[in-house]
Amino acid sequence: MPDQLEIDNLTVSFGAEGAPPVLDGVSLGVAKGEVLAIVGESGSGKSMTAMSVMKLLPRGARMKAGGIRFDGVDILGADERTMNRIRGDRVSMLFQQPKRMLDPTATVGRQVAEPLRRYAGLSRHKAADRVIELLSDVGIAEPERRAKAYAHQLSGGIAQRVMIAMALAGEPELLIADEPTTALDVTVEVQVLRLIATKRAELGMSVLFISHDLGVVSSLADRIAVMYAGRIVEVGTTDQILRQPQHPYTRSLIKCAT
Ligand code: ADP
Ligand code: MG
Repeated sequence: MPDQLEIDNLTVSFGAEGAPPVLDGVSLGVAKGEVLAIVGESGSGKSMTAMSVMKLLPRGARMKAGGIRFDGVDILGADERTMNRIRGDRVSMLFQQPKRMLDPTATVGRQVAEPLRRYAGLSRHKAADRVIELLSDVGIAEPERRAKAYAHQLSGGIAQRVMIAMALAGEPELLIADEPTTALDVTVEVQVLRLIATKRAELGMSVLFISHDLGVVSSLADRIAVMYAGRIVEVGTTDQILRQPQHPYTRSLIKCAT
């Protein structure tokens, strides 16, 4: 069976013709239900890879070569309508700064309800009930009170739980998490990682989990891809990468983590 997500020779550059690419022939596959982690230092191309899958590259980025298929759909060739449907409920994304992703002028409840009304077509009343269920489902205590709160009244950990509730509301097939715990305290980080692991098991979704921290991904990932300077330098099971790293950069990561 082909992988659910297939990234093939993805090559992206910025600026002048001949400038070195920021993604240099990236190829990766994510099987249905698998957690694949991408690990690499800041600037290595992790976010660009994630944004390519969502077809949301920043202005000025040029796709020089390569292809991406999600469940057989040619992402790079897809029109906006198809992409909006995919982003609406099949592939969801989490980001590093949850508070920045929330609208400061609307309550949490209204923001979580919005996609339920728009995509799932729930009535105002049904959506409000579902919001409380979703918030409580991601471990938010007193969900009724939190639903009335604004982003600035939330801690980073609670805000990320709200983002997870929103990302999972449509029961996506693939979750892309781009450093979702990097801005959190260590104890909160552990809780959020556990939550992602639990939800993944419940929903059977695949996860593309991005981090600069090998220690963070090792508890969660089935396989790890190591990225360096726009290339995937090594891919293997979590065990292989931790016990028998082949690439010097991977070895240096492991030294730093211990
Ligand atoms: P990571 O997520 O691994 O930290 P990114 O994928 O964000 O790295 O960035 C990869 C490379 O692309 C970096 O060298 C960065 O400088 C470059 N880059 C990212 N966004 C832009 C942009 N808007 N304009 C020019 N270069 C960019
Ligand atoms: Mg990044």
